[in-house]
Amino acid sequence: MRVLASEALSTTVCSLLKEACVVLPESVSEALKTARDEADDKGYSKQVLEIICENAKIAENEALPICQDTGTTVVFLEWGAQVSLDEGTLQEAVDKGVRKAVEEAYLRRSIVRDPLDRVNTNDNTPASLTIIPVDGEKVKVSVLPKGAGCENMTKLIMLRPADGKEGVKKAIMEAVKSSGGNACPPLVVGVGIGGDGSKAPVLAKKALLRKIGDRNPDPFYAAFEEELKAELNETGQGPLGLGGSPTVLDIFIEKAPCHIASLPVAVSLNCHAARCKSKDI
Ligand code: SF4
Repeated sequence: MRVLASEALSTTVCSLLKEACVVLPESVSEALKTARDEADDKGYSKQVLEIICENAKIAENEALPICQDTGTTVVFLEWGAQVSLDEGTLQEAVDKGVRKAVEEAYLRRSIVRDPLDRVNTNDNTPASLTIIPVDGEKVKVSVLPKGAGCENMTKLIMLRPADGKEGVKKAIMEAVKSSGGNACPPLVVGVGIGGDGSKAPVLAKKALLRKIGDRNPDPFYAAFEEELKAELNETGQGPLGLGGSPTVLDIFIEKAPCHIASLPVAVSLNCHAARCKSKDI
């Protein structure tokens, strides 16, 4: 049995969060630069993408957050069956790391203690923690600071099984189209198909951890991702919703078994500041 120090988990969350808020994943940064270089001069696409790339460069060079909304700290923890924490709970250890990062990196305090009394917790805790049980002694920490602009565009659609692939496609297309410029495109689109009404949104958000260009290992879903990406980039919503292309940098589908009478589809959008960092500890 491996015993992991709670302090090691806190320190990892702290450093991943600080880095994620300042430096985009390489695959996102490269995709934005490629989009900028390939954009035509008609409309606003090129101009907007130049500003987005310049903003990301300044943030990295000056160690400043890429966006003022440093988000809800979404944490996925792959936790091995043979691992235990030396003290406290996983939530306590993760929150300690978030609190430290917020202090050290001057991140925005964006979390309220209650959805209706709206009193700010003043330290960006609690994190939104999802624990994924895995085999052995593995521990992998993934931190995804998620801004409210894109998070507010999340959709859960409970389709009928007879709606099939075309129904799923229509639901995803509508979710992206209805987001307009609110989610700060170009977007990374996470899709969860199957599970139930609580599992599909988790799958959709977990999909956002993938690197731009990664394809689903199942050839059917890999082809579906390519098909959706091409059609979403034909919508003309474009960077920041001001027209042109691209509307999406990529789209990732995760799937799970589901009830014979259900076909849940969840869509989670990530903005051009598609921040995410992971580490095995
Ligand atoms: S959606 Fe993203 S880029 Fe837009 S304000 Fe929120 S965090 Fe910033």
